[in-house]
Amino acid sequence: MDISIVIPLYNEEESLKELYAWIKRVADENKYSYEVIFIDDGSKDASWNVIDELSREFPEVKGIKFRRNYGKSPALYCGFEAAQGDVVITMDADLQDSPDEIPVLYNKIMKEDYDLVSGWKKKRYDPVFTKNLPSKLFNATARKVSGIKLHDFNCGLKAYKNEVVKNIEVYGEMHRYIPYLAKNAGYEKITEVEVHHQARKFGVSKFGFDRFVNGYLDLISLWFLSKFGVKPMHFFGLGGSLMFLVGFIAVCIVGGTKLYAICNEMRAPLVTDSPYFYIAILFMILGTQFFITGFLGELISRSSQERNNYKIAKKLKI
Ligand code: UDP
Ligand code: MG
Repeated sequence: MDISIVIPLYNEEESLKELYAWIKRVADENKYSYEVIFIDDGSKDASWNVIDELSREFPEVKGIKFRRNYGKSPALYCGFEAAQGDVVITMDADLQDSPDEIPVLYNKIMKEDYDLVSGWKKKRYDPVFTKNLPSKLFNATARKVSGIKLHDFNCGLKAYKNEVVKNIEVYGEMHRYIPYLAKNAGYEKITEVEVHHQARKFGVSKFGFDRFVNGYLDLISLWFLSKFGVKPMHFFGLGGSLMFLVGFIAVCIVGGTKLYAICNEMRAPLVTDSPYFYIAILFMILGTQFFITGFLGELISRSSQERNNYKIAKKLKI
């Protein structure tokens, strides 16, 4: 099969028929063999009925329905598990992403051998202050942290080699960082193509402003996991050592001044009068806590089932 189109959706009943008709037109024109996997993320409207109807009429239409709303990432995860096509394309269900882009994305993967191609909504039709500006800032940070040169990490329209989606685990709200997940799994041939973007035709956006707060927190977690996930002591040990060193120097100053005063029979000030006394206590306690956290992290990562989960690209005679 050439293409699997994975579409997560939550309350998008009005768009689905039109979206599928459009996909079908593009796929038929290009003579692709394909499947469309709709993942109904616990919709409360008639979305599932529409999917059910479509799947009766068209053998290419498949569906998964969640019992409740889990979020876009879990929906993508299940879609990725089921996808059989050589190229897997994800797309939002709200008609903001255009199926006309499918051939370009497909060719980038099949002809130019990219692992992942991300859409770039250069001209966006979303509210400026709640979406466009924060998203610029967010993308700049994501570029810096991940080292991947993409303008638009969060674009719903993306294409992957089948192998890529089977080797990454999208969870929580990590759908914003799939390129980063792919890079961490060893798929570094990542590029972007400009795509057209439309204003939402039906329904409302499912993500509010809180996505930016959560988005940043997720980015920090991902950065930490990819850098120190299997060796937490390297992070906490370094921080702990530095703090302990600062505390130790402060102790030497406090103790040194006291000893010096005693030896020279001068009036020795109380150690608690010195600011270094408090610096010493604070930093030594903090340093110790960092170390303990590091040890705990090591214990946890040692007992994790993921610890020897290496992505093997090829094998010979094994
Ligand atoms: N979506 C989903 N589960 C959710 C929220 C959203 O499957 O909990 C789907 C939604 O139906 C749409 C896509 O994710 O197909 C993108 O959502 P939306 O259009 O609301 O995001 P925006 O375009 O505003 O970034
Ligand atoms: Mg949308």
